[in-house]
Amino acid sequence: MSRLRLSVLSGLLLCAGSAAAQTAPDVPAYDAAAFARCMTGIRGEAAKAGIPQAAFDRLADVTPDMSVLPLLNAQPEFTTPLWDYLAGLVDDQRVEDGRARLVEHRALLDRVAAQYGVDAETVVAVWGVESDYGRISGKRPLRVSLATLACHGRRQAFFRSEFIALLKLMHEGDLRNPDLTGSWAGAFGHTQFMPSTYARIAVDFDGDGRRDLVDSIPDALASTANYLKRSGWQTGRPWGFEVKLPAGFDIKQAGRTNRRTVADWTARGVARVDGGALPAGDTRAAVIAPTGANGPAFIVFRNYDAIYSYNAAESYALAIATLADRLRGGSGLATPWPTDDPGLSRAQRRELQTLLLARGHDIGEVDGMIGTATRRAIQAEQRRLGLTPDDGRAGRRILDALNAGR
Ligand code: CA
Repeated sequence: MSRLRLSVLSGLLLCAGSAAAQTAPDVPAYDAAAFARCMTGIRGEAAKAGIPQAAFDRLADVTPDMSVLPLLNAQPEFTTPLWDYLAGLVDDQRVEDGRARLVEHRALLDRVAAQYGVDAETVVAVWGVESDYGRISGKRPLRVSLATLACHGRRQAFFRSEFIALLKLMHEGDLRNPDLTGSWAGAFGHTQFMPSTYARIAVDFDGDGRRDLVDSIPDALASTANYLKRSGWQTGRPWGFEVKLPAGFDIKQAGRTNRRTVADWTARGVARVDGGALPAGDTRAAVIAPTGANGPAFIVFRNYDAIYSYNAAESYALAIATLADRLRGGSGLATPWPTDDPGLSRAQRRELQTLLLARGHDIGEVDGMIGTATRRAIQAEQRRLGLTPDDGRAGRRILDALNAGR
C-alpha cells in the first residue's frame, strides 16, 4: 500500500511540522479548461470501470481545491522521533479508551475473531491508531481532494484510480453521502482505507446490504480484521516480543527483512526481556531495533508484517503492536528510548500548549496536536531559556522548564 495512505492521526503526528496548511503556501492557479479536459479522460476510464456516464457526470461535478496540492509535496520541516510518535499514539488515554471499546463491543469483537481469526485487541488497536476509535477521520471533502489530485500534481495515475474507486463506491451504494470527508490524500472512515482498498477488502458485517466503514462499527472492525487476514495474519500467534540484545550484537543483523529462525536468534543471544518463552525454534523471525542498539529491540513474526502492510511504516506498526499489548494488560516497554528528553502524551501536550498560551504565544486551540504554530512557540521558548537544540520539539524538557516557571 502507498505511503500516501496517511491516516489523519498518523499524518498529524508524523508530519506535524508540514507548514503547508498554515503558512500561505504556493497554491497553483486553477485552469478550468485543463481540468475539464482531464475529467473527460477520466470519464472514459470510469465507464470502463462500470460507472455509467450519467452517474459520473453527477458524481464528478466538483470544483478542484488547489490547496490540497502543497500537502502532496510538503516535506516535514521538523522531524518526529519515534518516541514522540509512540508517546502520543500509545498514551494512557488511548489505552483506557481502547479497554472501554473492548468491553462495549465484546460480542461483536468475538464474532469478528471467530470469522477472521484476528484477536479483539489487535483490531481495536488498529481502530485507535487509525482514527482514535472513530473520533478523528478527516475533514476534507473526498471527491474534491481526489479529483484535484487526479488532475494535478505528481501522482495523478494513482489518484485517478482512487477517484474512480470512490465514485464507484458511491454509485453502487456502499457510500451514500456525496460530501463524505477524509484525509487530504483520500483515506477515510473508522479504518482510514483508501477507496481502492475499501473496494477490495471492506465487508458488510452488520448485514444491511452495504459496506459502510464510515457509520457502521461492525463493518469497520470486520473490515480491519479482513485486511489483516488477507495480509497473512496467523491466528493465535504473537506479533512479536520486546527482546534484550546481547552485548556486542551486530546491529547490521537487525531489520524487518533479515529473517532467521528463532533458534538462530536464540543462539545469537537474543532473549525476551520478560524471560518468557519464544515460539518454536523453526519459526521465522526478524529482530528490529528502530532507534539503534541502545533503544528497545523486538523480535517480530509474520503478524508484524501483516500489521506493517496496513501503512508501511515501522513507527505505525509498532504503535499498533504495542497498543495491542497494553490492551491485553501489558505495562509497556521495559527498555527506555535512548533519549534524556522523552516524548509527551496527549495530556502532556495539552499541558504544554496551555503553558505556551499563558506566555502569550498565539497557538490557537489547546488540542494536543503539535502543529507548526506550537512548534514555533516552543522554539521561541527554547531560545529564551537557552535550551539546545532549539528545534521546536514538544518534549519533557521544555514542559518541565515551563512548568517550573522558568
Ligand atoms: Ca453494513
